[in-house]
Amino acid sequence: MSSELINVSDLNQYAYCPRRYWYLHFYDTQGRNYERIEGKTTHENKSTRGDWVNELYLESEQLGLKGKIDVLDIDDAQPVPVERKRAESGEYYRSDELQLAGYCLLLEEHIDEPVREGAIYLYETDQRMHVPITEDHRETVRQQVNAIQAMSIDSIPSLTDNPKKCEACSTREYCMPEETVMLEPEQAEGTGFEEVISE
Ligand code: SF4
Repeated sequence: MSSELINVSDLNQYAYCPRRYWYLHFYDTQGRNYERIEGKTTHENKSTRGDWVNELYLESEQLGLKGKIDVLDIDDAQPVPVERKRAESGEYYRSDELQLAGYCLLLEEHIDEPVREGAIYLYETDQRMHVPITEDHRETVRQQVNAIQAMSIDSIPSLTDNPKKCEACSTREYCMPEETVMLEPEQAEGTGFEEVISE
């Protein structure tokens, strides 16, 4: 198992589709597999204005995570990590919540105090949503860190079980989900792709 620190933003990619994460990290656009080499990430990048801190970089060997909080708001003396998302639909996704939970875990280790909530700011619709960080979020983040560290270049994950996600997926041209299940029908089992091969 790799002990490499996982980018918090990669929790979002992995939650969307583990196979997508695999393509983004082990495959380049020329069709070659490769091992991604992370640059050194020991810098701290922070600037402060009024009651908020912009771009706070944190990392933790214990959590296996590293990442940069977009904005750290101070609300009633409590630090609240804020993650900005585009989301024209006016909704955020479970994968966005997990990313936010990852930042909250990093922050609470850094300040040695519980961080029980974060916020997602949807800038297309100017909405700020309060997100309580639950034990379920925390456990899922821990499981995902372990799963990502255990991934290897030799083992591509299964197709997503929600083919609608493929419509907006930037790695679709390499993943080729429809072509894959046509050539290997057994890969459709347990996914939403059974219909593709029955058409
Ligand atoms: S195209 Fe679909 S199955 Fe393939 S990586 Fe993207 S979301 Fe996952």
